[in-house]
Amino acid sequence: MLDRRGALTVVSPPQEQENIAGQKPNDHCAVVGTIGRTSAYQNLLISLKSLQHRGQESAGIATFDGEVVQLKKGMGLVSEVFSERDQHLQTQLSGNVGIAHTRYSTEGSKTIENSGPFVISSAIGYIALSHNGEITNAAKLKDELKKKGTAFMTTSDSEVLLMEIAKDIGDNGIVNGLRIAMSKLQGAYSCSIMMNDRLLAMRDPYGIRPLSVGRAGDHFIVASESCVFDVLEGEFIRDVKPGEVVEITPDGIETLFSVPAKATAHCMFEWVYFARPDSIIDGTEVFQSRLNIGKMLARQDPVPADVVIAVPDSGRTQALGYSMESNIPYNEGLIKNRYSDRTFIMPSQKARSRAIKLKLNSVRSVISGQRVVLVDDSIVRGNTIRHIITLLRNQGATEVHVRIGCPPIISPCYFGVDMKTKDQFLASNKTVEKIREEIGADSLSYLTIDSLTSSLGKPSDSLCVGCLTGSYPISITGEKYALQSELENY
Ligand code: SF4
Repeated sequence: MLDRRGALTVVSPPQEQENIAGQKPNDHCAVVGTIGRTSAYQNLLISLKSLQHRGQESAGIATFDGEVVQLKKGMGLVSEVFSERDQHLQTQLSGNVGIAHTRYSTEGSKTIENSGPFVISSAIGYIALSHNGEITNAAKLKDELKKKGTAFMTTSDSEVLLMEIAKDIGDNGIVNGLRIAMSKLQGAYSCSIMMNDRLLAMRDPYGIRPLSVGRAGDHFIVASESCVFDVLEGEFIRDVKPGEVVEITPDGIETLFSVPAKATAHCMFEWVYFARPDSIIDGTEVFQSRLNIGKMLARQDPVPADVVIAVPDSGRTQALGYSMESNIPYNEGLIKNRYSDRTFIMPSQKARSRAIKLKLNSVRSVISGQRVVLVDDSIVRGNTIRHIITLLRNQGATEVHVRIGCPPIISPCYFGVDMKTKDQFLASNKTVEKIREEIGADSLSYLTIDSLTSSLGKPSDSLCVGCLTGSYPISITGEKYALQSELENY
């Protein structure tokens, strides 16, 4: 499909899927890129597996073998698309440079055509792109590109991003072209980009999604999260700065140019929920920030109780922090069925409710006769927390006090998280007391925005908190925005 020798494209059938119970928000994607003096394939595969939590719908790897781009992508988990039994993959995906991608869609339909990496053959050669985030003005850019003759094969905003880059660097060269492309793009984009045998990484001026660089063996690597470098037995070097474009070579990392905004807008949800606890994002370890959140919750809203339990897995570190600060013992009161945590078609509320039951059960000996503090990272729709509270009461809990590690989510995300419509949020237009009543808790409290920012050790104006306040860092039609975009000045 891509070249005269028939570059590899293997896909499984497109399928429409829905999150198991539509409960927790999902991040858009993970991106990876690596370059060295030996094969890139194993590094890319291990990195993708380490970042599986950021997207479970599809996975893909593209390498440059010295002549053409080799590409394989498919629907499913990384281990399903890149099976260990497929011995020939290492040979087919040859080359010392490559990029990779896992996806959970927020923009564009859930089909293989919309999965990364995206690859095109352009005037300057092959360009391959892996993108995490969401381009908020993709529709407008797409219209403009179409008028100039660009054809699109997918409904993905990542394809718009790639076509914009290809056009601008075709007209102006790589550095000027990327600078011009960034002046037009709005929204969140952390990207690894392969241009023939060159590897670049690019992060939007607000640094909304994470992106970091490290090394392992003779390879330099760019990845969405720093845990990748530990898994590869390598080392973290630094974050790609907001607005920075870097070139990564077998000898190191070089800044090509930088166009930061006046303030950053790192997504607070990366620390609260999305990222792995063992990752360090923009100088703050995720584990410590979650521990701080739990401690802050205990100081902010203490309650007499016998046991602290977590909604697994994401509430676990916050619950530990709550226990440490309150001196109420932590215990494992809820058990998660790890093998039900996949995406399935869930057409009805009844099916979704059955899926929640399949996913979580409680431990009677931990719960019975106890006053329970139940800690979770966030509430979106509220179905899961409602089910858990009923479960705990049925198991003999005498009181259930709910503590949530971020403020109420009331507004959509436009930057790469699948929270799209206001009516899906339990907290929209409700008081905390009304929410408490609806979920059936004895008490309920959320972390305040001030406590959240101090738990993360970051100034409030360095974070995006759009889904908590309805005020966004970038202009969104019909929404308030906090930072004026000055990108046209670049
Ligand atoms: S709106 Fe919320 S989820 Fe989206 S980037 Fe901002 S903080 Fe993150």
